[in-house]
Amino acid sequence: MDKQVLIVGAGPIGLTLAMALTRQAVPVRIIEKNAVRSPYSKALIVWSRTLEMLEIEGIAQDFVAAGIPARGAAVWAEGKQRVQLRFAEAGIATDYPAGVLLAQSETERLLENHLATLGVHVEREVELIQHHSTPDGISATLRHADGRIETAQAAWLAACDGAHSTVRHQLDTAEFAGDTLPTHWLLADVKLASDLPRDEVSMFLAHDGLLIAIPFGDGRFRVMGDIGQVDRASLPEPTLADIQHLLDTRSDTPAVAQDPAWISHFVINERMVREYRYGRVFLLGDAAHIHSPAGGQGMNTGMQDAINLAWKLALHSHGLVGEALLDSYSSERSAIADQVLRKSGNLTRLALIHNPLLQHLRSATVSALGHLDSVRRTLAQQFTELDLHYPDSPLNRALPGASTQMLPGDRAPNAGLNAADGSRTLYALLAQGRFVVATTGATPVTLSEDASDIALGTTVLPQQGYEDGRVYVIRPDAYLACSANLEHLEDVNRYLETLRASGHPSG
Ligand SMILES: Cc1cc2nc3c(=O)[nH]c(=O)nc-3n(C[C@H](O)[C@H](O)[C@H](O)COP(=O)(O)OP(=O)(O)OC[C@H]3O[C@@H](n4cnc5c(N)ncnc54)[C@H](O)[C@@H]3O)c2cc1C
Repeated sequence: MDKQVLIVGAGPIGLTLAMALTRQAVPVRIIEKNAVRSPYSKALIVWSRTLEMLEIEGIAQDFVAAGIPARGAAVWAEGKQRVQLRFAEAGIATDYPAGVLLAQSETERLLENHLATLGVHVEREVELIQHHSTPDGISATLRHADGRIETAQAAWLAACDGAHSTVRHQLDTAEFAGDTLPTHWLLADVKLASDLPRDEVSMFLAHDGLLIAIPFGDGRFRVMGDIGQVDRASLPEPTLADIQHLLDTRSDTPAVAQDPAWISHFVINERMVREYRYGRVFLLGDAAHIHSPAGGQGMNTGMQDAINLAWKLALHSHGLVGEALLDSYSSERSAIADQVLRKSGNLTRLALIHNPLLQHLRSATVSALGHLDSVRRTLAQQFTELDLHYPDSPLNRALPGASTQMLPGDRAPNAGLNAADGSRTLYALLAQGRFVVATTGATPVTLSEDASDIALGTTVLPQQGYEDGRVYVIRPDAYLACSANLEHLEDVNRYLETLRASGHPSG
């Protein structure tokens, strides 16, 4: 076996997976067919929940320093600002109430640089052209820049090779089911001479279509708008004048576009696979799900796929947990992609209403709902992804005296520690790649020997969500697996022992 995990593709998802696995001492090899990193800005927002996970990886501050805060979003319709949402209105305690606005090319640079500090370098101009499973792993045929063909072996193959995934195409049963929406879109990265806010996404619901302007530093904006159902073959190359026309006809704030770095057309695909695991092959990121850019969730969802898979693969590769644990990657992440596809699709369809009567109704509804605190809170929680959770995870367990505030599958918030082990926060402790069994008492609970193989005990300072008299079992990706009354510590030990033995909490 050359390496434990062969990662195909060094986009943001492959890089995140390589980083998280390497941190957890799993040897990886990451290959990329392109000679250089993509220069395109593509995904522009790293959301709060992704930043929390990057904190566990130890690089969230690099993102905060490199980008600008994404404080909110405003929706305009029929000449009026209908809603101005601040993401901090999510009302969820987090160190990252705002996302970070940053070009995807920068996200990839930060990830690749960090990976290099961990001693792993992307092998560029190496393309996977074929793979097949062997009794104890996978065998992959790789083509190098000089035409040399190599056969590589690995225990696991992680397909992070994007929407046109070669690996997925070679899996007979992996259907990328879904649709291509008929509407075409224009996008550009330009400098805007304008009073448009520099820390807020502006969305204009105009009579003839949608216009979105997303700032990402240095006066640059991503401008996007729909241009209807056109014959792609006869579409001329888009120009700066086309972008200016969108701004002139749809923006309620005057804006002059200059200095284009990227102008392109695109169509929206809404597709996903049902299963994310095929024996020794995993699909992640765009290889598993693609959807509308509305809500800016694509890259974030993929990065969280990688974080979800990494700790499971690490515990299993170290011989600490049974293989069944790996199946939960598929069920947990496909449930999330389902939601993302549905919500981003609804947002897109709402934005593309062209009937004037319905547009008027839409403006009135957006205004009315946008003033309700509960709606604003829900929207902020959804955008920031702080509401993501796994209510139906096979890893969840209901134990006696469980918390009613934080349920199995819920996000576990960060907290300060009483611990004497040098870790100052819960998330810093999670970086050890083990479950954390947390209480609010003065001393950590005593875990059984088997439970201690996969879990660390600690005490958290009382924080939102963590109640006295309870014990919380937190997964390495900061989700709650189960909680119990302190008197039921033996149930917690049994949960961890069973998981350790079989990879599933019910054995
Ligand atoms: C215009 C646009 C705007 C977007 N806006 C947003 C946004 O606002 N927010 C958001 O979250 N997402 C957004 N996205 C989506 C986001 O860009 C993707 O979700 C993200 O790039 C997916 O990352 P990935 O690593 O899965 O795939 P990719 O970024 O496509 O990376 C895959 C990599 O695999 C390599 N590869 C492919 N095949 C092979 C092979 N056989 N061998 C070796 N290497 C291979 C490719 O060269 C590539 O580098 C946007 C996308 C576009 C196009």
